[in-house]
Amino acid sequence: MRDWMRTFLVFCVLLGWSIMPINPQLLGKLEHSQKVLETPPSGHPTPAKLPSRNPTRSFWIDSSPDANPLARHGSQDPLPSKADVCIIGAGITGVGVAYHLIELLNNASLSVKHPLSIAILEARDFCSGATGRNGGHLTPAAFLEFAQRQALFDTVEAIKSYKFEQHTASLLVKIIEENGWASDVDLVEGGHINLLFTEKEAENAHKDFDTASQAQLNLDGVEWLSKEELEEEYGAPYSGFREPGNNVWPLKLVTKLYQHAQAHAGQYASLSLHTRTPVTAVTHETTDNSSTYTVVTNRGSISCSRVVHATNAYASYLLPFLAGPNGIIPTRGQVMATRASVGTDQIKIPSWSANEGFAYWFPRPVKHDTEKPLIIIGGGREAVGPRYELYVDDDSETHPLVGKVLREFLPSIFEGKYDPLSEPEMEWTGIMGFTKMGDPFVGSVADLLVADPNRELYKKQYIAAGYTGHGMPRAFGCAEVLAQMILAEISDKKWKEPDWLPQRYLTWNRRVE
Ligand SMILES: Cc1cc2nc3c(=O)[nH]c(=O)nc-3n(C[C@H](O)[C@H](O)[C@H](O)COP(=O)(O)OP(=O)(O)OC[C@H]3O[C@@H](n4cnc5c(N)ncnc54)[C@H](O)[C@@H]3O)c2cc1C
Repeated sequence: MRDWMRTFLVFCVLLGWSIMPINPQLLGKLEHSQKVLETPPSGHPTPAKLPSRNPTRSFWIDSSPDANPLARHGSQDPLPSKADVCIIGAGITGVGVAYHLIELLNNASLSVKHPLSIAILEARDFCSGATGRNGGHLTPAAFLEFAQRQALFDTVEAIKSYKFEQHTASLLVKIIEENGWASDVDLVEGGHINLLFTEKEAENAHKDFDTASQAQLNLDGVEWLSKEELEEEYGAPYSGFREPGNNVWPLKLVTKLYQHAQAHAGQYASLSLHTRTPVTAVTHETTDNSSTYTVVTNRGSISCSRVVHATNAYASYLLPFLAGPNGIIPTRGQVMATRASVGTDQIKIPSWSANEGFAYWFPRPVKHDTEKPLIIIGGGREAVGPRYELYVDDDSETHPLVGKVLREFLPSIFEGKYDPLSEPEMEWTGIMGFTKMGDPFVGSVADLLVADPNRELYKKQYIAAGYTGHGMPRAFGCAEVLAQMILAEISDKKWKEPDWLPQRYLTWNRRVE
């Protein structure tokens, strides 16, 4: 991609993620933050560290003793000596790859000679990375940023951005419903309301909607809401729009997906999970007939025919060339669980975002309408310029200034519904993986290294990472793509690209060197 385009994209990404409300003073900061994205704190790219050993306690993981039944699964068992596919990372991507491999093996007539052995290796407890610490929204983008994407890429590619997210989110909802997991994973299909704080934001949103509509993007379920309507119905004195959206308990969903994959491995696959097993290196050996990887952990090594990097923000720890602005930038997000002062009958059930998508929140389901719900709210990074928590890979602490913004946010919008003096019941951080483009890398790692003479060594190492804080409606779809690619490679067939996949996600369309 040309440099000007890249620079413009960075600007767009930062515009989308950094600031609210936009005012001239903050725009100065925005330009500065662009330089920050280009320049890591040390002045040169530094790979991420292994995930912190003592992360903050998140609502999803730590609010009840039985929330994470797989927390330490396999942490004491001996490691297998070899596996066909070694997946590093047990978040929605890693578990998603295992799930899709097993589903595809069960449903397709692929010529896989022996049961495929799949091992998942996780540095900490099961699903204790971003997936176990996020905001819980499973909301595909409906149309925002359509005009920019159409201008930067083309109409077909712009449409795929939304088609892909709709595919991923509706597949997850379908799996949840078909298996009867909705109440186990707290699925709420309550819609998502975006508040538009400034005239400029409203103007851009309408432009995106009109351009998307002209391009015949599916806009079913999108509804514009006036300030008066939002004020009367919810007490929010801003205009906005509603789009289809869901929220879930992400850890419980990923637990169900793992258990389902394990139960359906059947005759075609075997699946094992090894938590508390940080991978410290991946090395490569070639013999006359074949080449294999050695995945080195603190509990021994596994010989693997293929490796999947499902480590998102931490990817550059094992793949150091992904450190820095062209790769995956660890970025800390903060979330808290706070109690409303009124019942759900007055809060209602939709999920929300505001601040150009920067602040996001939703009420947890309650048994009775009059019960005061717990609200999960994330965001607030705009408080910690000039770096906005970019290049921070430590989730063992919260940031007090981000916490202050989060505490003040809801009482300042919904008068009388939140007590400005009440303290959150829990507050935590997690690490997101940002990319310059805002989109993930998906495919063989070798394709990122066009000019590297050692690129062949990475051919059977795969990656899906870099969701830039918007992974729930994307990671499971990217995992599906990796599973398809791996099975095509094993069965010596050409991988057929799904028509919903944005081209720019694919590693062979991206360069990090
Ligand atoms: C605070 C916060 C709020 C967010 N809110 C939302 C939201 O509301 N909606 C949304 O769509 N997205 C949200 N996101 C983004 C979303 O959570 C992520 O994009 C998604 O969970 C990424 O999933 P993953 O499986 O790729 O990564 P992760 O869930 O981070 O999993 C990666 C795993 O790899 C492990 N690992 C890393 N290195 C190694 C190693 N060397 N050896 C072994 N294991 C290793 C980690 O411990 C981790 O468990 C949020 C993220 C954060 C942090």
